[in-house]
Amino acid sequence: LIKTLLYEGKAKKVYAIEGHENNGKVFIEFKNSLTAFNALKKGEFEGKGEINRDIATFIFKFLESKKVKTHWVKDIGSNSMVTHQLQIIPLEVVVRNTLAGSTAKKFGRNEGSELVRPLVEFYYKNDALEDPLVTEDQADILGFCDLETMSYLKTQALKINALLVGLFQKAKLHLVDFKVEFGKNSNNEVLLADEISPDCCRLWDLETKEKMDKDRFRRDLGHVKEVYVEVLNRLKKLKEEINE
Ligand code: UDP
Repeated sequence: LIKTLLYEGKAKKVYAIEGHENNGKVFIEFKNSLTAFNALKKGEFEGKGEINRDIATFIFKFLESKKVKTHWVKDIGSNSMVTHQLQIIPLEVVVRNTLAGSTAKKFGRNEGSELVRPLVEFYYKNDALEDPLVTEDQADILGFCDLETMSYLKTQALKINALLVGLFQKAKLHLVDFKVEFGKNSNNEVLLADEISPDCCRLWDLETKEKMDKDRFRRDLGHVKEVYVEVLNRLKKLKEEINE
């Protein structure tokens, strides 16, 4: 596979790939790095790329089986995947079931407060501006995403949330919140992009309430690799959920 680096992000590298069968597709390599607080805090662990690739693939296959369109095409090697090339919509779509992190802090609420219904928030994807919260009118008028597309993103994000809450529940995990990104293909269809993994979800053990996600790294709680491995192992036990 002949590939040329298009873009290197904090946790992934994206390559263009040659060959007519790869038209409109890119190669994504998951790195071992781990960053937090807008990359002010950096770390890594051996095997992280493999683990996150496997978790992301598991979730993409599960969502596809539930008729959610994603950019996933196939896995390659131990830490990479081929995906449809998309034009990424510059919004981070966050769904919260339980209050935690930035929104809990901002409104002076305790982490762990339950919400009456899932909360969807849009953030403008821009590291230099530290991903500011953006209203729908701001996003529309400033040209980040039109209102109709945002309404679709919200519907999709809530559907993904409902599906993942159920999936993780079977793995004895509570899905507290997560962030997703979407992109448009050449037919202007909106697909789920990026990844879903413990890097961009909060997952709490249903029984012990132990944090099983990147908060272990953000907050120096230790056992970072162990919990990522545990999340993957619990998902693997649910193979029938993704029709395999
Ligand atoms: N999140 C993410 N990337 C970001 C910001 C947030 O993946 O740039 C995820 C984060 O892991 C959590 C959810 O989105 O699962 C909500 O994050 P929050 O807004 O509470 O921000 P944080 O507390 O991570 O700063």
